[in-house]
Amino acid sequence: MKQYLRIGFILQVAFGMLLAGCAPEAFVLTADDCYEDETFVEEDQYCYLTCELDGTCAEDPGLLGFFGDFLADLGNIVFGVPEDVNVLVTYTLQNDRPVDPIEGEPLTVEEEDIIADTVAHEAMWQEFATIIPAENRRQIAEYGIFTDGVDNTMAYVEPIPGNETQWKIVMDAVDAENKKEQRYTLIHEFGHVLTLNNNQVPFDTKANADDLAYEEAAEACNRFFTGEGCANSNSYINDFYNAFWQDIYAELPLDQDPDELYSFYEQYQDRFVTDYAATNPGEDIAESWTHFVLNEKPAGNSIADQKVRFFYDYPELVTLRDQIRARLYSGSRRD
Ligand SMILES: [Zn+2]
Repeated sequence: MKQYLRIGFILQVAFGMLLAGCAPEAFVLTADDCYEDETFVEEDQYCYLTCELDGTCAEDPGLLGFFGDFLADLGNIVFGVPEDVNVLVTYTLQNDRPVDPIEGEPLTVEEEDIIADTVAHEAMWQEFATIIPAENRRQIAEYGIFTDGVDNTMAYVEPIPGNETQWKIVMDAVDAENKKEQRYTLIHEFGHVLTLNNNQVPFDTKANADDLAYEEAAEACNRFFTGEGCANSNSYINDFYNAFWQDIYAELPLDQDPDELYSFYEQYQDRFVTDYAATNPGEDIAESWTHFVLNEKPAGNSIADQKVRFFYDYPELVTLRDQIRARLYSGSRRD
């Protein structure tokens, strides 16, 4: 034990109930494992950041320094579902554990090795489970593994075909070493589940079954139509669309041609936190969400800054931001 403050007992009584069950599954810790700026909570067998317990993480120098460094040397990140993706193993998530693996068809020796490395599968799952609290990712029912080589797409999410009210997350086995970019990607991908899950956007099975029905459903939707379906009126993405996209959505290149998209981005650069955010409102809210989690609250007047501040209007998302930041910091220092 590096330090155990008497105040820890008081905090434990005051906040133990609040935090119970919030400890990442990946860690069962003892008081000896705690850093000086952490407090052991017996009930969870976990070292919480003391600032997390007393609500002062926003000004905590350790946490601010960590995120400053995290963002400073982040490499280029590629998003999206890769074409012709070969999912090598798919797990069902049961009680927050990956179980019942179903193996795909390996096309190379490397893919065979990836399928065999179950220890790595577990470690990658724990990476995600460490960052995002279990109660916030209940819509994710499957976890898969693929590779498209080093870098390129590190992870993606999509509704499970045939069971679209639930989602799967698929991670690239060879990018697990690239921790910062992988963690950024996991927060971004979780942002899609957060903003597109069935409680936010009811999945429209009929519209997704044929092109004509899709066009009709999009036409009939008097809120934002995400592709999955017609967003609920009080959904995050509908509010986001109304605030930031209504005036320029018609100018978005429909065929998603990369050159045209980049011109669109250049024309409205001060509206976007990254060039990738200009892809469509769904990617924009996922990127803005990621910047909301990783950055300090911006003070500027640009629309990009307003998009990051957008999330501060939702108390549940401010709480979730604090949790993810504390978990990312705690997890990273135990790499
Ligand atoms: Zn995305």
